[in-house]
Amino acid sequence: MFDKVLIANRGEIALRILRACKDIGVKTVAIHSSADKDLMHVRLADESVCIGPPNPIESYMNIPAIISAMEVTESDAVHPGYGFLSENADFAEQVERSGFSFIGPSAETIRSMGDKVSAIKVMREAGVPTVPGSDGPVSEDPEHNIKIAQEIGYPVIIKAAAGGGGRGMRVVHGESELLSAIQLTQTEAANFFGSGVVYLEKFLEAPRHIEIQVVGDGLGDAIHLGDRDCSLQRRHQKVLEEAPAPGISSNSRELITSTCIQACKNMKYRGAGTLEFLYQDDRFYFIEMNTRVQVEHPVTEMVSNFDIVKEQIRIASGDKLSISQEDVDIKGHAFECRINAENSKTFLPSPGEIQRFHSPGGLGIRVDSHVYSGYKVPPFYDSLIAKLISYGNSREEALTRMKNALDEILIDGINTNIPLHQELVKDSEFKKGCVTIHYLEKKLNM
Ligand code: ADP
Repeated sequence: MFDKVLIANRGEIALRILRACKDIGVKTVAIHSSADKDLMHVRLADESVCIGPPNPIESYMNIPAIISAMEVTESDAVHPGYGFLSENADFAEQVERSGFSFIGPSAETIRSMGDKVSAIKVMREAGVPTVPGSDGPVSEDPEHNIKIAQEIGYPVIIKAAAGGGGRGMRVVHGESELLSAIQLTQTEAANFFGSGVVYLEKFLEAPRHIEIQVVGDGLGDAIHLGDRDCSLQRRHQKVLEEAPAPGISSNSRELITSTCIQACKNMKYRGAGTLEFLYQDDRFYFIEMNTRVQVEHPVTEMVSNFDIVKEQIRIASGDKLSISQEDVDIKGHAFECRINAENSKTFLPSPGEIQRFHSPGGLGIRVDSHVYSGYKVPPFYDSLIAKLISYGNSREEALTRMKNALDEILIDGINTNIPLHQELVKDSEFKKGCVTIHYLEKKLNM
């Protein structure tokens, strides 16, 4: 096992990683920007290093500064969390070339899954069902693209191969819009992601977003920890997640999880990962794989009683998987509300000082958060300030506990989206389960 792990992230996930390290008995190094010296994990880590100014490009995404911090602190490995450098293949490569371990898949895997076109190809070859589409990047020949879109059938969605974070996508409803929309998306993709490669997919009108959590040992063994439903989204950003996904037949579940595992075994996948699907009319369609821990991993941890972050660290240090598929026992139900520092009606960010913070509790309640009374939410980063997670023996029990916890939690001084979550957990359609990815935006009249 490693002696010391450097945490290359901030906020709740940095604290989450620190806790996992402490559980295993690994020393921790926190790196932080000059705006983040008061973060909880910085206080709790064995060592901390300020690596740059608030702008993430100069701090949390500054590869030379992070590698220098690893050298200075004699760290063995780096955990990238999510966001920032977590899916940056160059970072993973440079970390390993400098003689350290990267807690995540190989640079090669990150690269091939980071390109959605190549990810879809790998998955299709492993028998994972994908969305009908252009089968690779769009052509240089406009006539060919018109023909492909016709074959797929409108509406189609143009997607950037290097896209992420819900950006770089455009829906096209008819042939007259197609060519200009392709051009526009190519230009935007080139500006945003440094690659103008785009591809076409059938736009599914009323799908759910369901994803499968996998863990591989890098040697050809892999397990899954079941599924999550993340259909409640606004602007392609997840708001409230649950595990397991309601209303999936055991046959469909068995089929999709076993093909996911096969795909991971084929690529000798190392570490934790998520295969994301759209699900419609009892069919799964692969859209992308995330080669890192997800924000919503706690709902899976609650129903599997398995520590995903600890397993990531163990595997990176060379251990085999600590459990086999037969040992995975999904029980009960869990929800996660992403609490953001934002206005719950306008969604405008609301940084500032949290004057009072009170955490809810009781059986089946988990709060993953770095904030405390007196903490100042900086304006420079993601607005996620807490993840409120509930567990119950049934979906109903977990939802009731979530409702009670939302009534109990107190965050004074800034605006949060707690009122939105309070409304959602009472929503009659959501309570029934199985809402589509458009449900939340429709409800918000967007
Ligand atoms: P990102 O990497 O930016 O998260 P994804 O490919 O995961 O992009 O897609 C994000 C979201 O966009 C999905 O959860 C879904 O809401 C929507 N989306 C993507 N592809 C399709 C599609 N073919 N049909 C309908 N909606 C889609």
